[in-house]
Amino acid sequence: MKKFSPILQDLIDAFKQLPGIGIKSAQRIVFYLLKNNDDKAQFITEALTKSLESIKECSQCRMYTDSDVCEICLDEKRNSKTICIIESPADLLAIENTQQYNGKYFVLMGHLSPIDGIGPDELKINDLEELIVSRSIKEIILASSPTVEGEATANYIATIAENNNIKATRIAYGVPVGGELEYVDANTLIQAINNRNIMD
Ligand SMILES: [Zn+2]
Repeated sequence: MKKFSPILQDLIDAFKQLPGIGIKSAQRIVFYLLKNNDDKAQFITEALTKSLESIKECSQCRMYTDSDVCEICLDEKRNSKTICIIESPADLLAIENTQQYNGKYFVLMGHLSPIDGIGPDELKINDLEELIVSRSIKEIILASSPTVEGEATANYIATIAENNNIKATRIAYGVPVGGELEYVDANTLIQAINNRNIMD
């Protein structure tokens, strides 16, 4: 026997699929939105629809943007000879929030994971190589997460950098092994960037 409306069940299931949201949280969110919160629910619906229609990857760094090239890439005050490689837009925000990094970025949108069918093509590493060569990049800071896949990704890109005679550094200090970058606190992250090591 169905306990309640299938439409309601679908909505709860939809929220349950989001990262970090279990069944209890999904129910709480749905009931919260339904209970006298028409404005909020409507705002979320419209913001989501608008984002899905207009947000795409920056043609240079792959960060989400609603224009062809994002504001960071367009910012001429930033050092365009240093490029920081991260796995996700959340990692980019974590580094931006430290307010200590003034170079450009490239978002891989993942990490190498042959078991999941994610290789260099999926991460658009060809585009990255083209970018670092055409822009005469002086340093690549590899800030992929210190997980097994993140390290493999960093090593792969370091080899490409080496082949093009570009310095590649790897953040290390204070970032917990196996941790995800976006959860590292800002001070630790600042130290990690400042104490980066040259990759062999
Ligand atoms: Zn960009």
